[in-house]
Amino acid sequence: MLPATPLSAACCNLALKEEVLEDILDLDLSVSETDDFIQLVSGEKILFGSVPLAHRYGGHQFGIWADQLGDGRAHLIGIYMNRKGEKWELQLKGSGKTPYSRHGDGRAVLRSSVREFLGSEAVHHLGIPTSRAASLVVSDDEVWRDQFYDGNVVKERAAVVLRVAKSWFRIGSLEILAHYGELDLLRTLLDFIIQEHFPSVDVGEPNRYVDFFSVVVSETAQLIALWTSVGFAHGVCNTDNFSLLSITIDYGPFGFMEAYNPDFVPNTSDDERRYKIGNQANIGMFNLNKLSQALNPLLDPRQKQLAALILEGYPDLYYTRFRELFKAKLGLLGERKGDEDLIAFLLHLMEKTAADFTMTFRQLSEITQSQLQELNIPQQFWALQTISKHELFPAWVSQYLLRLKSNMNDSDSERRKRMMTVNPRYVLKNWMAESAVRKAERNDFSEVRLLQQVLQHPFQKHSTAEKAGYASPTPSWAKNLRVSCSS
Ligand code: AMP
Ligand code: MG
Ligand code: MG
Repeated sequence: MLPATPLSAACCNLALKEEVLEDILDLDLSVSETDDFIQLVSGEKILFGSVPLAHRYGGHQFGIWADQLGDGRAHLIGIYMNRKGEKWELQLKGSGKTPYSRHGDGRAVLRSSVREFLGSEAVHHLGIPTSRAASLVVSDDEVWRDQFYDGNVVKERAAVVLRVAKSWFRIGSLEILAHYGELDLLRTLLDFIIQEHFPSVDVGEPNRYVDFFSVVVSETAQLIALWTSVGFAHGVCNTDNFSLLSITIDYGPFGFMEAYNPDFVPNTSDDERRYKIGNQANIGMFNLNKLSQALNPLLDPRQKQLAALILEGYPDLYYTRFRELFKAKLGLLGERKGDEDLIAFLLHLMEKTAADFTMTFRQLSEITQSQLQELNIPQQFWALQTISKHELFPAWVSQYLLRLKSNMNDSDSERRKRMMTVNPRYVLKNWMAESAVRKAERNDFSEVRLLQQVLQHPFQKHSTAEKAGYASPTPSWAKNLRVSCSS
């Protein structure tokens, strides 16, 4: 870590997450109206006693060792202990140059900041571990970006997000130390992380690094299965963007899949489609392997073997969790032979018909068994109407209904209620974020605020959200939206 001075961001508009400010930072919301607060969250003023730091890390980017990276535009401004005794690391993103900025300007654009602000909210309220965002300050400063790396540079507005996480350490935090043979520091950092964040691992235990690895492997499998279950593609699963605490961090060109497609890639600059949604679980394995290599210098031969065995167990951990999550999405109780086939069959039909992933599952939660049985699909179930065009849909429905009969002590209304708590009605689709960004660029934050409210309760029908079309098919203007990797 190196000291780094945040740059002031002349501010003109502010969006807040009341919930994060109140529940995590114990802030009375009236404080947020003060100039002091705005100066603090824009990086203009430093908290009393705070020494802002930038963290040094390395990483494998798109499969290749990228050497030293580090926080190039993020300032850790302190660790906050709230009334509940929880420690939260506060970070400003887009707050100016640091010793690790390399050729960058240390800033973030409004577009990517709004996306991070709303995206982390959406992911959190879907029940998925993630960093949170507390505030978003829009700056009057302008920055230049080549959005699609095609030589076309445009002027954009800068912004600063205050984001919080229990820890910002990444796989790359360890890789850089192992790469340069800084083994004392590697040991010290690992012991610190274990002590602070891995209560189930005993710091006095000689096998502690293997135990630590085992937790990260299992939590990473869990995280990626959760992403898959809501159609979330991170977009840039480099090892420097993979948290050691297995939370979702570094929101860039992420996306929630619309039409079901295992080849879905949210980042239009990812030409090789390395980070397509159907490959995220494999990339998890690649990244965990890089983590084990970073731990290797501290392991004896027996421990190395153990770590290798743990890594071999990763695919099973992932598939077990995947199966559980998708069974719940279909309202299936207990274990039955053929459950996996039933899930795979449905996904196949969705892929063939390009049915909307979120809404197909949601509408299966809302439709009654008798409506399904009669294959009488009302107009409002537009995603089911799409998938029902497939000639094998009736075959899937009859298998599904048969399977639902084997649920013990269940009723159709119980099934629907249960499914509606795991199948969201609203996710942050790209077009929604884009529409909010376009307005924010004109100083209109109404849609940022609306989305923030709606995404706080993604499983509850919300009349304003319905009116905004958030549960409707993607509007035609947004059919060919591209998401820029530059941010
Ligand atoms: P990311 O693609 O956002 O995960 O960033 C990869 C690396 O590039 C990290 O080390 C970032 O801190 C750094 N970086 C990205 N954008 C900028 C920027 N505008 N200025 C300085 N560093 C940056
Ligand atoms: Mg990053
Ligand atoms: Mg980026």
